[in-house]
Amino acid sequence: MADCIFCKIVSGEIPSQMVYQDDAVVAFKDVNPQAPVHILIIPRQHIPSLMDLDEASAAVVSHIIVVAKNLAQQFGVAESGFRIVSNCGADAGQSVDHIHFHLLGGRSLQWPPG
Ligand code: C5P
Repeated sequence: MADCIFCKIVSGEIPSQMVYQDDAVVAFKDVNPQAPVHILIIPRQHIPSLMDLDEASAAVVSHIIVVAKNLAQQFGVAESGFRIVSNCGADAGQSVDHIHFHLLGGRSLQWPPG
């Protein structure tokens, strides 16, 4: 998508602090971190939100969860605990319409979220 900021991160047009990439996904540090570890994991393919997934396209989500688990280990929060979040829609605070999963850790996280 030409005007999608995360598609531009995938293509390298917008710089990011990339921590992982493979054929299907890219992971980079959030520019406005909400925890000591705050990484975004996104599919290379432009999928606007969770609402746009079907059985076929949802396969990337299970891959993203495994990547998140590995990154949690790599960034030292696997033992203490971490959270994986995907905000969907305006009320949930989704601000970028390219599906993304936040990996948050390194501090005690509140529940329920605000
Ligand atoms: O769930 P939500 O859509 O609000 O998350 C979008 C996230 O993308 C924000 O945490 C924001 O800081 C991050 N972001 C980024 N790099 C950009 C633009 C947004 O890390 N260039």
